[in-house]
Amino acid sequence: MSNSLQQAIQFDQQHIWHPYTSMTDPLPCYHVKSASGCEIELSSGEILVDGMSSWWAAIHGYNHPQLNAALHAQADKMSHVMFGGLTHQPAINMVERLIDLTPAPLDRVFIADSGSVSVEVAIKMALQYWFSIEQPKKNQLLTIRGGYHGDTFAAMSVCDPVNGMHHMFRHALCNQHFVERPAVEFDDEWEPSSLSSIQQELEQHHTEIAAVIIEPVVQGAGGMRFYHPEYLTQLRELCNHYDVLLIADEIATGFGRTGQLFGCDHAGIVPDIMCVGKALTGGYMTLAATVTHAKVAEAIGQGQGGGALMHGPTFMGNPLACAVANASLSIIQSGDWKTQVPRIECQLREELGPLKRHPSVADVRVLGAIGVVELNKPVNVARTQALFVELGVWIRPFGRLMYIMPPYCISAQQLSKLTHAIAVYLETTTN
Ligand code: PMP
Repeated sequence: MSNSLQQAIQFDQQHIWHPYTSMTDPLPCYHVKSASGCEIELSSGEILVDGMSSWWAAIHGYNHPQLNAALHAQADKMSHVMFGGLTHQPAINMVERLIDLTPAPLDRVFIADSGSVSVEVAIKMALQYWFSIEQPKKNQLLTIRGGYHGDTFAAMSVCDPVNGMHHMFRHALCNQHFVERPAVEFDDEWEPSSLSSIQQELEQHHTEIAAVIIEPVVQGAGGMRFYHPEYLTQLRELCNHYDVLLIADEIATGFGRTGQLFGCDHAGIVPDIMCVGKALTGGYMTLAATVTHAKVAEAIGQGQGGGALMHGPTFMGNPLACAVANASLSIIQSGDWKTQVPRIECQLREELGPLKRHPSVADVRVLGAIGVVELNKPVNVARTQALFVELGVWIRPFGRLMYIMPPYCISAQQLSKLTHAIAVYLETTTN
């Protein structure tokens, strides 16, 4: 490694926080020079096959010609103008496509700056809806354990209270309602009793519950678990019955990752409010959206709260991000993901499935372009990461979870390199 590279990494260690990382005892970081297609090139020369899509985001791969072109063209026109009192074509085009993709009647869109912010906005929408129609007591949220919805305060309040990474802030968070996570796995036979805890909670507390918030079908950062779509179908019914809004957090699951365009599509349901982010810009920059239907939007607009939705970030509707999102959504609309994702799913099942027999492995789960190997014991991240870099792959485990969610354009050979690396880890590491 050159001196200047070493210095750069040292500077980074001393001055820059990385996600969920200590400043005084940081995990090692690898310095990236460039990324293209499904490969990340390190400044030290290694080329790594990407198994993470940069946390569910880079679904079309890196340095994509269409996304690059959209970004360059927009930068030449304008990078940003305030969204208060002004509008522009990149936002309008992006929202038109988003409405086209999301299920009817979802057609009112708040453009947010990150996934967590879109969750904050969804929660605000739900509370303001009930306030507007003169039911202000409906101001709490109900969710399932094992969830993850972001790192801001309202979002943290609905993350798993024990495993949700935010337990040290619990005294500063609003108290919300939690019930057990769905007991039936995605592929298991549906068991109606798995709904009883959420049904009971709704029955007892619906007068104070504004909305149920849930990650549809896949619980991501809270444990990478896949639950039965019937749970969602029945939950939709329960929300209707008890007059509670349903918020679907599709930030991780949206845009084809689970094998359907949205996680909710596995159950054929439409939420009242849907959050999307991450892959919205194909992983190019931060942008998210909170989408709802006329009933919620109009109640807020005409209600006693004064009509305005009280949120308006400085970089709302950023034209660069909207232009790239518009290009990314047009690639989604072209439909290639419909063949790419099942192909990845099939290969993940074939190549990860046999690892289930390994004594260090607790479970292997695959859904769409997500493959999870759950181990019996937590992984040593620094050591595992070093092994993976040596093997030419980028896979970042957390806790007991080793998982792959590659860009959809990954080749069969590249995908095999990822699954092989996990097999090598199991062979060489006593876990
Ligand atoms: N909701 C879910 C389901 C997520 O997976 C994430 C990010 N991991 C978020 C919300 C928060 O999104 P962001 O990191 O863009 O704030």
